[in-house]
Amino acid sequence: MAEGIRIDNIVKTYGEGDTAVHALRGASMSVAAGEVVGLIGPSGSGKSTLLKCLGAVIEPTSGRMQIGEQMIYDDGWKVRDLRALRRDLIGFIFQAPYLIPFLDVTDNVAILPMLAGKSNVQSRAEAHGLLEALDVGHRAAAMPSQLSGGEQQRVAIARALVNRPPVILADEPTAPLDGERALAVIGLLNEMALQYETAIIVVTHDEKIIPTFKRLYNIRDGVTIEEVT
Ligand code: ADP
Repeated sequence: MAEGIRIDNIVKTYGEGDTAVHALRGASMSVAAGEVVGLIGPSGSGKSTLLKCLGAVIEPTSGRMQIGEQMIYDDGWKVRDLRALRRDLIGFIFQAPYLIPFLDVTDNVAILPMLAGKSNVQSRAEAHGLLEALDVGHRAAAMPSQLSGGEQQRVAIARALVNRPPVILADEPTAPLDGERALAVIGLLNEMALQYETAIIVVTHDEKIIPTFKRLYNIRDGVTIEEVT
């Protein structure tokens, strides 16, 4: 299967001189399209920093990052429009769903293709397709406040997928969920990764879901170590 995302030797240093913090000292990982990989590590090990670099939210200090065949970062950004990069190539899933309270479920998802320039009709049709795939199609006209926590998280997953990004970054997506719901979310992510050929990286502390990853990266003091389970 084609490669979704690959990083080599990413270094991130905050500040400089005596007060410099070496948050990433050489992080490397690759996640294929269709694969869901875990990223674990103790507090302060560099997980958030790595996720922000992968999401082009902060700039690494050095290293390389590639999405598919496209070089994104090579000791400097290789794409001019980072907003378009985040919108078109990367989907984000957070611990909380962060739905927009005054838009209905459909428009919470459809807003992303709209922002990418698609028509409202086309955008809503794509949103509906994903809501169906995630088993919340029957809630399409509801407002977010009318949904259960689990339904809201499925809408957030639909939103992350709707622009068909090759990469999805999920930051503690199961933290507020009980064991059964947490496993259900991971099951859905695995299904969606295969169906939409997306590479999914899940940052987690959640002991319940860690055994479900076939591959995971453990980060220690800013260095990634690959583990095969
Ligand atoms: P984790 O997510 O694994 O807890 P972080 O990536 O948040 O780890 O932090 C890694 C290291 O970088 C820590 O020592 C943290 O204090 C430091 N750090 C994180 N963000 C900043 C920042 N904006 N400025 C300076 N140091 C930071």
